[in-house]
Amino acid sequence: MINKCVNFIQDIVFAQSCLNCRQLSGTSSAICNQCFTELPANRVCCRQCALPLESGNHQLCGQCQKTSPTFNSAFIPFRYEHPVDQWIWKFKFRNDLVSGKLLADLFLQKIFDSNIVMPEILVPVPLHSSRVRQRGFNQSLWLARHIGKQLGIPVDSRSVRRRLKTPPQHELNIKKRTTILRKAFTLNREFEHQHAAIVDDVLTSGSTMNEISKLLCNNGCATIDCWAIARTALK
Ligand SMILES: [Zn+2]
Ligand SMILES: [Zn+2]
Repeated sequence: MINKCVNFIQDIVFAQSCLNCRQLSGTSSAICNQCFTELPANRVCCRQCALPLESGNHQLCGQCQKTSPTFNSAFIPFRYEHPVDQWIWKFKFRNDLVSGKLLADLFLQKIFDSNIVMPEILVPVPLHSSRVRQRGFNQSLWLARHIGKQLGIPVDSRSVRRRLKTPPQHELNIKKRTTILRKAFTLNREFEHQHAAIVDDVLTSGSTMNEISKLLCNNGCATIDCWAIARTALK
């Protein structure tokens, strides 16, 4: 009874407008229940890289059938579609931390509802230092810290370094992108963990995650997961 009263008072005191429909959400959440159920969930997808599929949930996509990625699995609960794509854009390019927190909380809600085995360590995809200066922060590190804090999993932002600045992925074809990415990352020190999750905001081709996975795998990491908020349908 006391708990119910506390929840009720909290809901009144912290009630806010839904970031999607602008109606009063009725709870302390930044999104109302109706909008949450209508988000573009990535339910039907490749069991290894989480590429959205038209049908055949937990099948392997064509690319994974052809060449298996180095990482073992991907947990990417949303498709890169409205309104998730807008929140990611605002978070990443407009430093909108309200959107960032919402994305991290939505990811956590999905992970709490899942039965995935938790990793020992979170490894955010590093940005080149010049891009951190330009953007002001690394969105992957920010997400990893928020998510890691809630799950009680430490974040390792020092082992993997991006030594080359790479052009945005959409400006390159797959072959060129893979060639450039192959030299882009390096490991600063021994990687001692057996089970890691690499964290990014969006997974596009999967090439970045795959290159970092190779580094970790070559240094003895046995299980590597990819965690991202959203997955594009492009390959
Ligand atoms: Zn709403
Ligand atoms: Zn796949």
